[in-house]
Amino acid sequence: MLILSDKIRTIAPSATLGITSKAKAMKQKGEDVAVLAAGEPDFDTPEIIKEAAIKAIRDGRTKYTPSSGTVTLKEAICRKLERDNSIKYTVDNILVSNGAKHSLYNALQVLCNPGDEVLIIHPYWLSYPEMVKLAGAIPKIVGTSVKNGFKTTVGDIEKNISAKTKAIIINSPSNPAGVVYDDADQRAIAGVCLKKGVTIISDEIYEKIIFDGKEHFSIAAVSEDVKASTIVVNGVSKSYSMTGWRIGYLACDSKMVKLMAALQDHSTSNPCSISQAAAECALTSDLSAEMVKNCDMFQKRRDELFKLLSGEPKLRPFLPGGAFYLFCDVSSCAMGSMKFAERLLEEKKVAVIPGGPFGEEGYIRISFATDMGTIEKGVARIKEFVKNL
Ligand code: PMP
Ligand code: GLU
Repeated sequence: MLILSDKIRTIAPSATLGITSKAKAMKQKGEDVAVLAAGEPDFDTPEIIKEAAIKAIRDGRTKYTPSSGTVTLKEAICRKLERDNSIKYTVDNILVSNGAKHSLYNALQVLCNPGDEVLIIHPYWLSYPEMVKLAGAIPKIVGTSVKNGFKTTVGDIEKNISAKTKAIIINSPSNPAGVVYDDADQRAIAGVCLKKGVTIISDEIYEKIIFDGKEHFSIAAVSEDVKASTIVVNGVSKSYSMTGWRIGYLACDSKMVKLMAALQDHSTSNPCSISQAAAECALTSDLSAEMVKNCDMFQKRRDELFKLLSGEPKLRPFLPGGAFYLFCDVSSCAMGSMKFAERLLEEKKVAVIPGGPFGEEGYIRISFATDMGTIEKGVARIKEFVKNL
């Protein structure tokens, strides 16, 4: 009999990855599934990035690199952080990992002791609590309500801070509700964290997908003191349609980077050398026109999806300010969100992600990282499904 660790027994599999691969497999078998589950842009990786990867292979960049990433990629990341986010770092402040997910994992492993608490704002990306638990720490959920646009307040954060609070994870724009924390919100949050000695982990993976003319603001740009107690996490997955390449990065205090690099030395070694060359190309090429075009496209789809859902009283959509997900209240259907998603997939062949694993049972997450035809077909089927309940 296998005797497993206590830690692994508490970890749930990822519903986002699980449902998306199930739906993709059904499609491959020829089933007419409307996949509104995907957590990745449907656009292809830009050609120039693919060419850079092919060149890297031809040039023999096929060997180990330093575990923490190549110097040239780290330099490109420093330039990006200064150009886009007005934060100055040097290469010693940067760690390149296998996706932003891995960056977050490393950060939590290095920060947390058993029994420490990490604040997570609800509704949250479902990997945060599991990663906190894997670091031996305790996820503490800060509640929000739809009435306040799913936004937390400084008061709520302060109330949840205890002597054991080690860190808080801020995610703007957020997954799953697309909540955007503006400059003023972030300054206020930074103030309370600084006062209470709480490290800020700022997950900025959706920074380029932000709507209604808003601009992303990085919390580390508030002041030098805030920067010193913040770990900025980002990556190329969502901005450059590079989810499969697995490159994420973080920026923080250089002593912390050294510790995370040691962790990476003994766990994964370097992220793929070819992907690093591709990420370097992404961050140093002028792809701003392409990114603006993609963001405009996401905004058009968001508007259309919101409009289509709004006509049905059993569906109450929440308008996202960024990312490519719409969080929709289905609580009047009187069914758990997992049951709702399972039945919708089985009976109507529409894949969405249940809200439960994001901390909000009465909701489903509908992705609009897909073409307008699939969105229209999917919503028509969702409406049919809820009408007949
Ligand atoms: N943060 C959030 C909020 C996400 O939704 C994702 C989704 N993949 C990630 C981080 C990780 O992205 P990746 O590992 O592909 O860089
Ligand atoms: N983050 C994306 C999502 O929420 C991709 C899948 C994952 O890694 O969770 O769907």
